[in-house]
Amino acid sequence: IAKRLEKFKTTIFTQMSQLAIKHGAINLGQGFPNFDGPEFVKEAAIQAIKEGKNQYARGFGVPDLNSSIAARFKKDTGLEVDPEKEVTVTSGCTEAIAATMLGLINPGDEVILFAPFYDSYEATLSMAGAKVKAITLRPPDFSVPLNELKSAVSKDTRAILINTPHNPTGKMFSREELEFIATLCKENDVLAFTDEVYDKLAFEAEHISLASLPGMYERTVTMNSLGKTFSLTGWKIGWAIAPPHLTWGVRQAHAFLTFATSTPMQFAASVALRAPESYYEELKRDYNVKKDILVDGLKAAGFIVYPSSGTYFVMVDHTPFGFENDIAFCEYLIKEVGVVAIPTSVFYLNPEEGKNLVRFTFCKDEGTLRMAVGRMKERL
Ligand code: GLN
Repeated sequence: IAKRLEKFKTTIFTQMSQLAIKHGAINLGQGFPNFDGPEFVKEAAIQAIKEGKNQYARGFGVPDLNSSIAARFKKDTGLEVDPEKEVTVTSGCTEAIAATMLGLINPGDEVILFAPFYDSYEATLSMAGAKVKAITLRPPDFSVPLNELKSAVSKDTRAILINTPHNPTGKMFSREELEFIATLCKENDVLAFTDEVYDKLAFEAEHISLASLPGMYERTVTMNSLGKTFSLTGWKIGWAIAPPHLTWGVRQAHAFLTFATSTPMQFAASVALRAPESYYEELKRDYNVKKDILVDGLKAAGFIVYPSSGTYFVMVDHTPFGFENDIAFCEYLIKEVGVVAIPTSVFYLNPEEGKNLVRFTFCKDEGTLRMAVGRMKERL
């Protein structure tokens, strides 16, 4: 294996989902719904396939989808973007992240992440030859240590990556935090990359796109996807929105990574993004019920549960149960309790920092969530 990938193991999500199957445990680990996306979107995909929309799509997206993405971005942020010059459709947000890193980061550039961070950020930065600096967000509220962040910015800093709502903590970056980051970016000529795939799962606070702050659009790549919002994680439709000078880099990388994304699914994604607001309201209402079942159950089972404002994840401290670390706890949880969670130490540069923390997801039907919390209450 190439040196740039030597330190990365099979992703923790794959490992844990395999263990779930092996031990017949309830999977509250990897974040994928165990229910299906909406009928009208699935119908649109079937329709597109039947209508023969099956050859290569335009590299940066089928025009219809680029327009739907721009329209939704306008609704969400008030920003008017050119669908032809500032929107790039990718194979999931994961590809948008890779294309952004590979298209805009030079070897030796420094990029700042907030730990715990989603695993693909570090791996794609390694592919780009970048140096990673991590600022740790600490419980209970995972707020940004502003002074630490400020001193981390150096002359080599090329970008700061912000994921809000934040996986795995459920934290949402506040307006004050985003303003502080925006000022740092502007003063030091640093770019911002934002992963906003959970923007429609904002329960306790208002989601704010960093690009909408004054002077930020021109230095930000805003990334999002269809998977979480439409419970279609397997479709792998994502996108990056950025001003033309940054889109240039993203598109060049995208052109040589995947060239284009699945054509019929892009037509269906376009239909999905034109859903009425009531779709998003209902999604949130459903998820609120699920979240309460999981959070109440975890508390009753004896965990220290940290408040989650957004995403479909909840972070807990497992130390009341007396295990050495998150890996040992998760192993016990799978084998003896029959529930899978995600150990979080892999999301830090220094694994020690995550050893008390474990992530659970509530993107499962209510029966499954009740069964999982029932097992934990009984067997832990
Ligand atoms: N984003 C999903 C999660 O955090 C997993 C994606 C993946 O398996 N790579 O659970």
